[in-house]
Amino acid sequence: MMPRDDKMSAAESIVKKLKQPDIQLYRKIVQYLFLATVVIIGIKFTIFINQLESGMVPTVTRPPGIEAFLPISSLISLKYWLVSGILNPIHPAGLIIFLMALATAVLLKRGFCSWVCPFGLLTEYLNRLHKLIFRRNVKVTPWLDYPLRSLKYLLLAFFFWAIVLKMNAAALDYFIYSPYNMVADIKMLYFFSDITPFAFWVLAVLMVLSILIRNFWCRYLCPYGALLGVLSFLSILKVHRNETTCTNCQKCSRNCPVDINVHKTTGVISDECHACLQCVAVCPEKDTLYISAARRKGVVKPLAYAIMVCLLFVGGSLVGRLTGNWQTAISNNEYLFHVKNLDTPFYQHNRGQTPAYNKEAWLRMMQKIRESGDKRP
Ligand code: SF4
Ligand code: SF4
Repeated sequence: MMPRDDKMSAAESIVKKLKQPDIQLYRKIVQYLFLATVVIIGIKFTIFINQLESGMVPTVTRPPGIEAFLPISSLISLKYWLVSGILNPIHPAGLIIFLMALATAVLLKRGFCSWVCPFGLLTEYLNRLHKLIFRRNVKVTPWLDYPLRSLKYLLLAFFFWAIVLKMNAAALDYFIYSPYNMVADIKMLYFFSDITPFAFWVLAVLMVLSILIRNFWCRYLCPYGALLGVLSFLSILKVHRNETTCTNCQKCSRNCPVDINVHKTTGVISDECHACLQCVAVCPEKDTLYISAARRKGVVKPLAYAIMVCLLFVGGSLVGRLTGNWQTAISNNEYLFHVKNLDTPFYQHNRGQTPAYNKEAWLRMMQKIRESGDKRP
């Protein structure tokens, strides 16, 4: 039988938990909600493509959320929008989702990485495996860690150079309406469903490295995370520490998944901070660690943070729907045509080059296919 004191402490801890819900519980709920959304999108898109492959006009709607997995196309769309004022109708949802991710970085630090991104969630499970194997969190020595961290910025710099600096309005327009871009989502699905041995082994190596080295992909290679990290310096919110109540127990730093020395700072200024709030959750001293706009002012409760992350994405998709910038303009009949001809060189993308095509003739042909579908009984 449990001693009376233990019974009391168990009851007290339950009451305490109910009064002060676990910050990480909110994060997990949000992460799994986004994961469930991604799974539903994946299933719907797979059914959509299967129906096209069987030669029928799909009975399910293509889920626009699939465009979240086309970040390069979305970056091209963003520049095209900025230079031409046109929000292109090929992958409009991709641009909206991309803008929402950038907005989270500016408003809520890199909350996208630890509250929304399914790869962020996968990374957390791989980190658990790491701890199970090594029985502790192994830190990469700084002389190796810093150069490796720069890799993701090199990748980001490459995309910045290739898209933002090198592509003019005509080149952007040419890419956006190209056969390749129109089927980029289908190609992405085939990349995973019909994976080549080379791609499989690359992914397997990345997986193993992510178990051996915590956050390997996010910390060293993800250019999306690098972009959000740069923008997060603009964020009005950051984790603050109250020096007067801090007992220097260092629990915050020991629990930070990206090894930030939270106990040594009064405000976390780091491109690596994912706003996961694990440091805030483990701090035993009340109101000592918090996320806020300024020191002890504008403190954002974790629940409010969770709601803001969700509202940004739900709001973004609503604005997209209401303004007619969510569903692609590509009709199901056009998709049928694309899937039938997907293996032709016309749809390939060799070493960064879109195959030559006559844009006017191509779009005229697409319009005819669309209209022929509209006339069907
Ligand atoms: S500093 Fe805190 S919020 Fe930022 S990554 Fe580390 S534990 Fe998460
Ligand atoms: S966990 Fe809290 S009390 Fe301990 S060092 Fe960090 S901020 Fe200070």
